[in-house]
Amino acid sequence: MEDIIIPEGTKVKNVERDKISFVEKAYASISGGFKVTLEHLFGKKVTLRYPEERKELPKNYRGRHYLDIEKCVACEFCAAACPVDIIFIVGEPHPEKVRHPRVFNIDILKCIFCGYCVEACPTGALQMTDVYEVFSPQRFILTIDELSKIPEFKEFKE
Ligand code: SF4
Ligand code: SF4
Repeated sequence: MEDIIIPEGTKVKNVERDKISFVEKAYASISGGFKVTLEHLFGKKVTLRYPEERKELPKNYRGRHYLDIEKCVACEFCAAACPVDIIFIVGEPHPEKVRHPRVFNIDILKCIFCGYCVEACPTGALQMTDVYEVFSPQRFILTIDELSKIPEFKEFKE
């Protein structure tokens, strides 16, 4: 076996001196654990008792859509603007306005909540609310009836 040549001036770590005893390791683990426990015990609580307690949302939160059918003219601008192509509209003539939506579906499972559809709407008929309960176990496509209901926790965005 060849001798190892250590260049002059190189510091060699004393492995024996750096060894940590079992008691020191145990103390470090226990004190570290207690520190985390105490921080969580007296720190700010982040868990909410949902659904009784609800999360404070930022003003610009984009949640479930709301459709004002009276304002909608079935122009399909919103559908054209949707990057994931999940808005399906069938329009029909209406005596008081050019067109009216007979079918208006949003496949909400695929929605990325970008808000492009709302931006594209020329009449302000389509809005996004702060409702984040958008799914139900049975269905993921919001129909015209569901979209036009005013959600209980709604707060319309301008
Ligand atoms: S929010 Fe975006 S992804 Fe969702 S329906 Fe509107 S345009 Fe499409
Ligand atoms: S919601 Fe707005 S953009 Fe979409 S079809 Fe109705 S009027 Fe046109």
